[in-house]
Amino acid sequence: MILQRDSDYSDGTVLGSMCTEPHPVAAEAFVAGLHVNLGDPYLFPNAYRAERECIGWLAETLLDHPAPEEAEGSIVSGGTEANILAAYAAREVTGGREIIVPATRHFSFEKAARMLRMKLVEAPLRSDYTVDVDAVQDLISRDTALIVGIVGTTETGSVDDIEALSDVAEDHGVPLHVDAAFGGFTAPFLREEYPLPRFGFDLEAVVSVTVDPHKMGLVPPPAGGIVFRDDEFPKAIEVYAPYLSGGGASQYTITGTRPGAPVLALYANILELGEEGYRRIAFRCYEETLKVAEKARELGLELAVDPPHLNLVNIRLPDRGTAERLLRESEREGWKISVSTKPLGVRIVMMPHLDAETVSRFLELVARVLGG
Ligand code: PLP
Repeated sequence: MILQRDSDYSDGTVLGSMCTEPHPVAAEAFVAGLHVNLGDPYLFPNAYRAERECIGWLAETLLDHPAPEEAEGSIVSGGTEANILAAYAAREVTGGREIIVPATRHFSFEKAARMLRMKLVEAPLRSDYTVDVDAVQDLISRDTALIVGIVGTTETGSVDDIEALSDVAEDHGVPLHVDAAFGGFTAPFLREEYPLPRFGFDLEAVVSVTVDPHKMGLVPPPAGGIVFRDDEFPKAIEVYAPYLSGGGASQYTITGTRPGAPVLALYANILELGEEGYRRIAFRCYEETLKVAEKARELGLELAVDPPHLNLVNIRLPDRGTAERLLRESEREGWKISVSTKPLGVRIVMMPHLDAETVSRFLELVARVLGG
């Protein structure tokens, strides 16, 4: 089979991906829903209702929405589409053209800015790669459409101080979008024991949140999530689709025809795992992360963020030459790694398919390469 030559998460060699092996019930529900097109909800009213319930669950369980029944949202093609929708809606509602983003922002915001003819205004970082909130305040202008904060940056897994960002945004009457594509399924649980900020709709300025089921939600791709506080922002970008079955309907997603399979997979995971199951996975992944961090320290390796904020360890590399050598040696030994640029490092995303024992073997390789 053609797939036999590709990567498989189960052998523990994929170290730099934010996707993982889907939960078995998600895989089963996905296959059952192969024919479902949520672009035509009249044909699939129950799948559509499942999507509404998923959005309600995300809003209530992960995002502390004070009135989850008012939340609006969609399971979309990924975090990229979710972030583009958030930027587009903010531009239409506010009339502003600038998006203030942390310098750690995912490249999806660059796509958003280019497509929407908006301008990214990058805010500088603190030493733990979280955004400098005072600097964000200084960057606000009459043209600011949106401030973005990140829960789990792509390269270091850092979590911005969303509570402080919300205060600043509220003082200036600017909406706040939270990109919790990676951290949305873990941070709400981990903050029960570790010092992480709140980032949901209980914070006044938060108008939208990206939270991706195809990352820590154990749903097969494509499954990004966009949740809006209510229908004000999505209404500003919705389009009427006149020819749909049973009379027209409005939609605001970028895609028209869109898959129901990932929605059914998320719905199945919510029923099977629920809050308790996702909490267990979050703690297991983070505890393995802490063990990896400890092993790295023992080997004399330097973590970019120590301790890691979420289940991502970034080990600093001294120069590009070392990074190239590590890429070559890793490939030779069968590890699939990912090198970050800001900072220069190797990022190990401690997804459910990894454990500290396996990753420790890779750390020994890193130590050898760094040792020359
Ligand atoms: N936001 C963050 C913080 C991410 O790490 C990523 C992807 O890694 C995205 C957005 C984009 O998600 P996707 O690849 O699903 O479009």
